[in-house]
Amino acid sequence: MVTSHTYLEGDDYRRLQECIHCGLCLSACPTYLVTGVEADSPRGRLALMRALDLGEVPQSSAFTHLDLCLGCLGCQTACPAGVSYGHLLEKTKAIRRPALWIRWALAAVTAPVPLRLLTAWLRLLQTIRLDRLLVRFPLLPQVIRMQLRGLPRLKGLPFTSRTEQVLPAAHPAGLRQGRVALFTGCVMDRWYQPVHAATTRLLRWNGFEVVIPPGQGCCGALHAHAGLLGEAEELLKRNRDALAGMEAQAVIVNAAGCGAQLADKLWPDGEGPPVVDLSVFLTEHPLEPPRYKLPEITTYDAACHLYHAQGVRSAPEQLLALACETVETLPEADQCCGSAGLYSLLQGQMSRKVLALKVEQLRLLKATKLVTTNPGCQMQLQAGLQAAGIPMAVDHLGELLDRAYRRDPAYRQTFNLSDQAT
Ligand code: SF4
Ligand code: SF4
Repeated sequence: MVTSHTYLEGDDYRRLQECIHCGLCLSACPTYLVTGVEADSPRGRLALMRALDLGEVPQSSAFTHLDLCLGCLGCQTACPAGVSYGHLLEKTKAIRRPALWIRWALAAVTAPVPLRLLTAWLRLLQTIRLDRLLVRFPLLPQVIRMQLRGLPRLKGLPFTSRTEQVLPAAHPAGLRQGRVALFTGCVMDRWYQPVHAATTRLLRWNGFEVVIPPGQGCCGALHAHAGLLGEAEELLKRNRDALAGMEAQAVIVNAAGCGAQLADKLWPDGEGPPVVDLSVFLTEHPLEPPRYKLPEITTYDAACHLYHAQGVRSAPEQLLALACETVETLPEADQCCGSAGLYSLLQGQMSRKVLALKVEQLRLLKATKLVTTNPGCQMQLQAGLQAAGIPMAVDHLGELLDRAYRRDPAYRQTFNLSDQAT
C-alpha cells in the first residue's frame, strides 16, 4: 500500500495509476523511436514519475529521461486509458527549479526587454549577413547554428513597436459578423508580426472587427513546461487582465503552443470569451474562400500543441484545400518535429534526431511549401530543411491563406497591398 507521496496526491496519483502498461503509446513517442529505451517512452516515464513520487529513485536519474521528453503529447492521443500525461509531466517538472541559465534563456525569448535586445542583436547579424557565415562556422555549437538557420527574416520589421502599435484600425471589410480579440504573445509579437498582420486581414475580410488589446505578453507556456508554474500563472494573469472586458466573442490565437496554454488556463472560471485557434475560427464561420488558388504544391505538418493538446485535426487542412491547387499529404504529420519550445536549445542532440525523422519524410515529397501553425515548429522545420539542402520553404497557415487572398485585386485594394508576393 502506498503511504508517502512526495508530490502526487489524490487525483494526480489516481491519474498516474490509470496507466495499464499496454504500450500502445510507444510507437507514438518520438524519443522512444530514437532510443528504443523503455525509460524514454511514455510508459517508462510514468513509471519514473511514480518512483519519484514514492522516493524510490533519485531526482537526477529520473530527470535524465524526463528531461528528454518533448512534451509533444503524442502519447496522450494514443492512450486508450486516457492518462493525462501532460498534466503529470507539468506537475513533475515543478518539483525542481530549473537552472539559472535556463531561466535566462526563457527570459531572453519571452520577457519584453530581453526579447527586444535579442531581436536587435539578431537583426544586426542578419543585416550584415553574419548569420550566413556563422551557420557554416564549425566551431559554433550546432544548437546555435540550427537556431540561426531557422530564424525568420527580422530585417524590415518594426524595431521597437508592439503589434498593437503597428497594425491599422481593424474594422471588418465586408458584412459584419462580429468582433474578436487577437492574442499577440511574445515571440510572435516580435518576430512574426507579418503573421499577425495576415491574421488580422483574414478576419477582417471575412467580416470581423479585430481588436488587439495592449498589455498582453507571453502566455507562460514555456514557463509551465519548465516547471515554473508560479511564473506561468503570473503571465496568465497579466493576459487575463489585458483581454478581459474587450467585448469580443473569441480570443483568436495563431500560435499552437500559446493556444494550448490559454485554452485551458486563461479563464479558470470560464468567465471570458473562448480561446480559439485561427484555423478553427475561420472554418466554423461563414467564410468567403479565396477567388484564386496558389499554384505551388503544399504540404502540412501539424503542430503538436494544435493536434494533440487542442485536438484540432481537420481545420488547417480544410483551409489549405481552399488556398492551394495541390496539397500533398505528409505521412506522420502529427509526429513532433523536435522543436518543443526551449527543447531544441536544451536537448539539441535529441531534437535534431527527432527532426531528422521528419526531414526524411519531407524529402520524399514533391511539395515546395510546408505549412504549420506554430513559430517554434516553423523555425525548427526551416532549419532542418535548409541544413538538409531541401528546397522547401515553411510558411504559417495564416500567411499562406493571406497570400491566396492577395491574388484577388479587391483584397489588395481593401488592405492597400502591393501585388508582389502573390
Ligand atoms: S510527450 Fe511526446 S516525447 Fe514525451 S513521452 Fe509523450 S510522446 Fe514521448
Ligand atoms: S497507452 Fe496509456 S495506458 Fe498504455 S502504456 Fe501508454 S500511457 Fe499507459
